[in-house]
Amino acid sequence: MDNIDIIDGESSCKAQKRDIASLNLSEMKSLMKELGFPTFRASQIYGWIHKDLVSSYDEMTNIPKKMREDLSEKYPLPGLTEVDRRDSTDGYTSKFVFKLADGYVIESVLMKYHHGNSVCISSQVGCRMGCRFCASTLLGLTRNLTASEMLAQIYDIQRKSGERVSNVVVMGTGEPLDNFDELVRFIELLTDENGLNISQRNITVSTCGIVPNIYKLADLKLAITLAISLHAPTDEERRKIMPVAYKYSIKEVMDAIDYYFEKTGRRISFEYSLIAGENDAPERAEALAKLLKGKNCHVNLIPVNPIKERDYRHTDREGVERFKRVLESRGITATVRREMGADIDAACGQLRKEYIDKQKGGAD
Ligand code: SAH
Repeated sequence: MDNIDIIDGESSCKAQKRDIASLNLSEMKSLMKELGFPTFRASQIYGWIHKDLVSSYDEMTNIPKKMREDLSEKYPLPGLTEVDRRDSTDGYTSKFVFKLADGYVIESVLMKYHHGNSVCISSQVGCRMGCRFCASTLLGLTRNLTASEMLAQIYDIQRKSGERVSNVVVMGTGEPLDNFDELVRFIELLTDENGLNISQRNITVSTCGIVPNIYKLADLKLAITLAISLHAPTDEERRKIMPVAYKYSIKEVMDAIDYYFEKTGRRISFEYSLIAGENDAPERAEALAKLLKGKNCHVNLIPVNPIKERDYRHTDREGVERFKRVLESRGITATVRREMGADIDAACGQLRKEYIDKQKGGAD
């Protein structure tokens, strides 16, 4: 594979007025002042958006009608609309395809566990990282999501399910550290006591390893969990499946996560998608164990979810268990993450891709 220079610079949201649902409370106060409204309106509006999770100004019953009209004209609530949904027959998993205000579509997943509801959100429309086994990157990157668009996925799902969301994983479409500023703003708003007040400890951000931004994130000293998508124990093997590995070596990624641990004290998660005949031999598990030796970490093994555009097969159950045993025998804790809701089985980004293809009158 060529050394694709995919990740120079930040992918930016087009310069535009920040939408009202992406403002923090103090910015909301400044906006009210600027618009000539009393500042106490700021807490009311902020509460309607981030605590009551309303989707329109009409629902803000303690705000004067004229003010609601003014705001909805000048500061429309971004929001999103569900265009497709699949519920697993066991009732534990639902996948949603949402349309954004500008017509682009994204995907989110609700997973009900006994310890609470977890939502997996997208951070970008598409992705430019090019991981070979991933459906989300097939159409490239269209744009970053704003903080409010990341929140809206959670708000909409909580509204629909009528149950509190307790955990959030940023593991859907997109590379969160390629959308750094909006990601950090999203975390600030999601954990705000005037909003959903989700604990930082209940948030996981997964990255393919954008090294400079791991350092930036570490310096913020958040208590979130950082998950690193490793998928191979050496640079050579990693480059075959992840173009980002041309840009940053495993050594650089490891140095960055050591720094992350030093700053935050948070145990690191590693994601390792098992692809039959590619990265699943017991020797690869040994190499992985050697690489991770002495680190405060945990490995999530994910049998790769095949996508029709590529010829990858997942490792069988026995192979997965063997890989896990090798890690454990070398003191590395590992869990196998099997896709929940097998009957709506759609790998990361597949449902969205299917929807887009259908709209174009293409495949499926
Ligand atoms: N860009 C981020 C987050 C999105 S993907 C990252 O790379 O971490 C979330 C996880 O799912 C990553 O570990 C990714 O490599 C993995 N993944 C994507 N497609 C997959 C597939 N078809 N099968 C198994 N894992 C997959």
